Amino acid sequence: MVKGQKSVRDGIEDFLCPFTDMYISQGSNGAYSHKGIMANDVRGKQSGIRYPYYAPCTCKCLKTYPKTGQVMWQSVNKVRFANGRIDYATFMTAHDETMDAKVGQIIEQGLQLGNMGKKGFSNMTGVHCHIEVSQSNDISWIKNQYGNYHFNNEYDLEECYFVDNTNIIKGLGGNWRTTDDVVVRENSVGNIEVVDQILHVGSKVKFDGIFKVDILKSPLSTNLFGNQKLTGISFDDYYKEKAKDYHWIPLNDWTEVDKFGSSKNQDQIVVGGSSYVLNKNIYNVIGIDVKTNSAKLNINGRNVWVYSTFLYEV
Ligand SMILES: [Zn+2]
Repeated sequence: MVKGQKSVRDGIEDFLCPFTDMYISQGSNGAYSHKGIMANDVRGKQSGIRYPYYAPCTCKCLKTYPKTGQVMWQSVNKVRFANGRIDYATFMTAHDETMDAKVGQIIEQGLQLGNMGKKGFSNMTGVHCHIEVSQSNDISWIKNQYGNYHFNNEYDLEECYFVDNTNIIKGLGGNWRTTDDVVVRENSVGNIEVVDQILHVGSKVKFDGIFKVDILKSPLSTNLFGNQKLTGISFDDYYKEKAKDYHWIPLNDWTEVDKFGSSKNQDQIVVGGSSYVLNKNIYNVIGIDVKTNSAKLNINGRNVWVYSTFLYEV
């Protein structure tokens, strides 16, 4: 993957290879420190350089081990792996000298997770990132008969990450797959996304109800409206321009209706303070704020925060 890359299909993140260039200097069950474990040591294009690597999915920092620059991460939601499995990802990265991850911190897919390094036991092997992945939410970290630690439900890395945009310099003959190799049938029979009304990043939602256009933003050419119910922003705050950018909603996808939801006899000329509108489009949830029970949607290219109560998952 490259910096900023995201991959979400059918509401589920694809677990991406965190490296832009992948040169595997020690593979799974390697003779040196990987005996009996499914881990890879990965360096970049040139040896000795502390290349950054990125979050393969939106993940949370569960544990840090500062002495070895090691971090245990877990996906916030279930993800799709290269072998087609859908489950939580729990994974370890190690040797980052610049490690600044904090327990509880959430990193969105595509953002920087750390830098390759040689902190800990890797003085022999040079700058790299040690990575191992469990396809489960089991966080047990156990020592095997060779003295090497590993996860339960650990999978070979080729079974875990999609290598879209990763330049494989030394792949040790692995069966590396891209997302094109694992077809996802969106919204069809066999759809695995459960519509449970528990919104998460990637949920597909519709607006639930008819909303009054409380105010139109001036100048009218901005084509934005304010709604107190959806955003919790008072008319006064809208009026006095105290509302944030993300509290104004683009009108493009909304249809003018009467109080009962009928668009008959409506001229589609929306008037602030008296018009009602509805929206039948489907949007992806791109952010969640549990504290305020709000969801972030991208509507007509604009990020908007609204209360989850007025959305339903489809
Ligand atoms: Zn290693």
